[in-house]
Order: sequence, then structure tokens, then C-alpha cells
Amino acid sequence: MAFIEPHIHMVCRTTDEYRAMAQAGCLAVGEPAFWAGYDRSSADGFRDYFVQLTECEPARAAKFGMDHYTWLCINPKEAQDVAFAREVMKLIPEFIDRPNVLGIGEIGLNRNTSHEMTIFEEHLDMAIRLNQLVLIHTPHLEDKLKGTRMILSALKNRPELDPGRVLVDHCEEHTFPLVKEAGYWAGLTLYPTSKLNPKRAADILELYGMDRVWANSAADWGDSDPLALTALACELYKRGFSRQEAEKLLLGNPEAFMGQSPKFRKVSSV
Ligand SMILES: [Zn+2]
Repeated sequence: MAFIEPHIHMVCRTTDEYRAMAQAGCLAVGEPAFWAGYDRSSADGFRDYFVQLTECEPARAAKFGMDHYTWLCINPKEAQDVAFAREVMKLIPEFIDRPNVLGIGEIGLNRNTSHEMTIFEEHLDMAIRLNQLVLIHTPHLEDKLKGTRMILSALKNRPELDPGRVLVDHCEEHTFPLVKEAGYWAGLTLYPTSKLNPKRAADILELYGMDRVWANSAADWGDSDPLALTALACELYKRGFSRQEAEKLLLGNPEAFMGQSPKFRKVSSV
């Protein structure tokens, strides 16, 4: 099955996993900047990370025939220190024109604090200024509904941002309709042991359809599965979805969203 894994943290994954993804049919990956599992001690730590995302990972992916794209920002977890976050944000213009950078992400909220919100809004303004696509992380568990509402209201205050160029990720049953009704793209993230799984994601797709939605594993350094999309495809087939429908979700939709950046190379017809 040909697919795109549009949200995954390959810096945390092994070469064997690149190989397994390629063998399963993965043609391209999207890797937003995020928390590395530890707090970086200086802005220079982020400079190195941005080099890794724009030089090292594309080279690793290319060995398996995969295109590698990335998104730049300081993640919400490390954005609690506003002065530090601004120092990191100053590095972004230096990297934004690199050939695999699609936009600003994954920005958003972690614990829904006012400091996180300040930096989230400054990232949105930067995306408007630099005419970039936006990829948004929503908080988990009990913080998700409130955080998603805060995010949507900050977006609404920026009419210059075209909702079709913004994706709000990690949606669940209670936040998916809010994001879709507001006109944004919605992301469904599959986790092996907690949060959304293939069955719950398939339920949401049955209820709301496949328009303006992508699915991903967001696999990182924790308990996660870089092949989660193949499990979702099997769940969809089991429920009677057609191959065209599965392909729309797993290939056509990420292509349509990421393809709004002129840097994205279409893979479905290659
Ligand atoms: Zn992520």
C-alpha cells in the first residue's frame, strides 16, 4: 500500500524502521520539530536540531527512496520560557527556505499556560509574515478540549491565515468536529497503548468522512508505532472502505495539504 506518513519523528527512529516503512509502501515522511524527550540547554541545541531535520534526516530517508519534509518551531513544552523560546524562534528564518521545510510546526499548547499561548501566537504571526503552512499540536488527555478551544480562538483572531493552510493534529472524538467546523484540516494520531487507536479513528472517519483529514503515527522516542498507518488501513478495509477511500486518506490527503507548499514533490503519480 502506497502511503505518506505525514507526522513522525524520524530522529528518534532506527534505520531498520526506515527500511520497514519503505517495505510497507511509505513514499514520504513529514517530521515536525518537537520536544526531544529532554529540554535543550541552549538555542544552539535547536540550531543543531534544525540542521538534523534539514540535512541529516533527508539523507537517511533518501537511502530508502523516501522524500523527507520538515516543519520548524520551538515546541510548546519548551516554550514555557518565553525569552528562551524567542531566542530559538530567531533561528527559524535562517532555515525556512531550505528545500524540505514546509512550514511552521508543530506549534500549539502542552499545558495550556499563558506563556505557551504567547509563543503559539508569535509563531502564528511568523507563519503569516513568512507565508508558511501551519501544523498544530493539541494537548493530550484532560487538557485537550480546553487547549483545542484556545487554539481555535487564536486562529480565528487571524483572518489573514487561510484555514485550508492550517492543520490541527491529534484530534479525538470531542475535538475533531470543532476543528472541521471551523474550516481547518484535522489530524488523527494513532497510538499503540493509549489515546486514539485504529478502531476509534475508523469510527470518527465513518461519522465525518475523509475530507480535510490526515492520519499519522506521530511516532517518537516513546511507545509508538511507525507502521501504525498500515494497521489503520487494515481496519478500514475490514469495515468495507474501498481502496480508493483508504488511498485518499493515506496518500491523496497528505499530498493535498503538504502540496500547498511549492517545495512538496507529488509522489502518487511518480
Ligand atoms: Zn509530534
